[in-house]
Amino acid sequence: MLSEDRIGEECGVFGMYDLDGGDVARSIYYGLESLQHRGQESCGIAVSDTKGPKGKVFSHKDMGLVNEVFTGEDIEKLAGNIGVGHVRYSTAGSSVRENAQPLVLNYVKGTLALAHNGNLTNAPELRQELAYTGAIFQTTIDSELIAYLIARQRLKTGSVEEAVALAMPQIKGAYSLVIMSPRKLIGARDPHGFRPLVLGKRDNAYIFASETCALDTIDAEYIRDVEPGEIVTITADGQILSNKTRCIPEKEHGHCIFEYIYFARPDSVLDGQSVYDARIKAGRFLYKDDPIDADIVAGVPESGNVAALGYSMESGIPYGQVFVKNSYIGRTFIKPGQKNRESSVKVKLNALNHAVNGKRVVIIDDSIVRGTTSDRIIRMLRDAGAKEVHMRISSPPFLWPCFFGTDIPAREQLIAYNKSIEDIRKIIGADTLGYLGLNRLKELVDNKMSICEGCFTGKYPEEPPTDDIRGEFEA
Ligand code: SF4
Repeated sequence: MLSEDRIGEECGVFGMYDLDGGDVARSIYYGLESLQHRGQESCGIAVSDTKGPKGKVFSHKDMGLVNEVFTGEDIEKLAGNIGVGHVRYSTAGSSVRENAQPLVLNYVKGTLALAHNGNLTNAPELRQELAYTGAIFQTTIDSELIAYLIARQRLKTGSVEEAVALAMPQIKGAYSLVIMSPRKLIGARDPHGFRPLVLGKRDNAYIFASETCALDTIDAEYIRDVEPGEIVTITADGQILSNKTRCIPEKEHGHCIFEYIYFARPDSVLDGQSVYDARIKAGRFLYKDDPIDADIVAGVPESGNVAALGYSMESGIPYGQVFVKNSYIGRTFIKPGQKNRESSVKVKLNALNHAVNGKRVVIIDDSIVRGTTSDRIIRMLRDAGAKEVHMRISSPPFLWPCFFGTDIPAREQLIAYNKSIEDIRKIIGADTLGYLGLNRLKELVDNKMSICEGCFTGKYPEEPPTDDIRGEFEA
């Protein structure tokens, strides 16, 4: 899907602890670059030296892409062998520097730096509770609430990992966390496992990352996924401690299926499931369940490409490219608002007349949110001479919002709400329109894996908030 009508992932996280004492900022930088698809609004790195003064943290964060925010000099200044990094996506109002992560919190036990991917569903209640007991907030993000709760629990308990375990029952919703204390690096995941988190190793350094593609980028080997509900602690003497007291039965897990359809990079493997394989399967199912005769099948770049390949494999229709994407558009030119949104599609994509002229085209996209770009895409293909345009979507229609770390909006904003597929087909101007069947979602991954498919069915693994609280504190 194109950015004009895209769904935002709330964030990507990365943490690294080099037990041999080497600096980690450069590797964190590259790790964050490979997680850039998970958030483009702001980013940051916080590091510390475990042999230096306890709790002295250097951090740098700002609005913008990783390669815009950090210069070589910035990275040089971030000296330390333990650190966390973050890339953030946010809804428009909250796109301010104060809300960039990692959050660094000083308290009596030292310093905590925290990077969070997800959304808490009880953030307003927690914020009120904490505010009434004297907390003063520097940001409007719910990640700060987690940091506060951990810091408070730490005063009552012997270790930071125990404090995380005590804080977890107080927070509801989706969270994959990487936490740096003066001498330990911790990765933790909410009990449902909405968002991914993996553990890797390079030489004598341990790494937590949102996706395996970040491990590949820095030449680290994958060790395993942090399990839903698990707290994994890397200690100064190289132990990997695991606390599973917050884990729940596997059948209650809720791995976000949309990670596989759209959010994650196709070269990542999350919870043992290849994102690429899931997308190939989605493309195959689209043809199996709703075949159409055509001359060429192509994806809306980039996110529709792998499913389009799967469609081609299943159907025998040649896979091709029908759009050229300009990847060098300055983001500052893309302004919110319908009028600008529409015109920017053309700036970003151009139809390949020679590939399309006189052809029957199947075009695959991962989803339709508001439908503001699908009609442009189809019109561009027709203008380029396409004889027929058949649109296939590698997910079922969005019918419900997401409260667990993405910004799938309220129902009224979703094109499929209150409309039939035929209505949508007419609006976007396709010859035919087909979506992935709901029954196919589980088949994209291991059937035994318990998934969240709430934005398609309205059935979430955890009770959603009664109000749409997501904009409340600009979280
Ligand atoms: S509601 Fe949709 S996007 Fe949100 S976690 Fe569930 S599957 Fe993922």
